[in-house]
Amino acid sequence: MTAELDLNSLKKLVREILATTPDEIGCDECFDQLDRFVELELAGRSAAEALPLVQKHLERCANCREEFEALLAALRGIASSA
Ligand SMILES: [Zn+2]
Repeated sequence: MTAELDLNSLKKLVREILATTPDEIGCDECFDQLDRFVELELAGRSAAEALPLVQKHLERCANCREEFEALLAALRGIASSA
């Protein structure tokens, strides 16, 4: 009986932890913020500190990292030719 109770509070706790620490974003969200991330990077600011969730996603997701690198390269090209 007490074990069942503990399991229930544990499940509740886990659910709360998962709900209050949305420390992962999906590719869509990452892409939405990618231009800002690249702009910060180009401005010499710490994009990883300003947008840690994007940074974290880029570390895990090869697709978005490719996207990021392509965008960065493209914007650097524009900046240097201007
Ligand atoms: Zn992604």
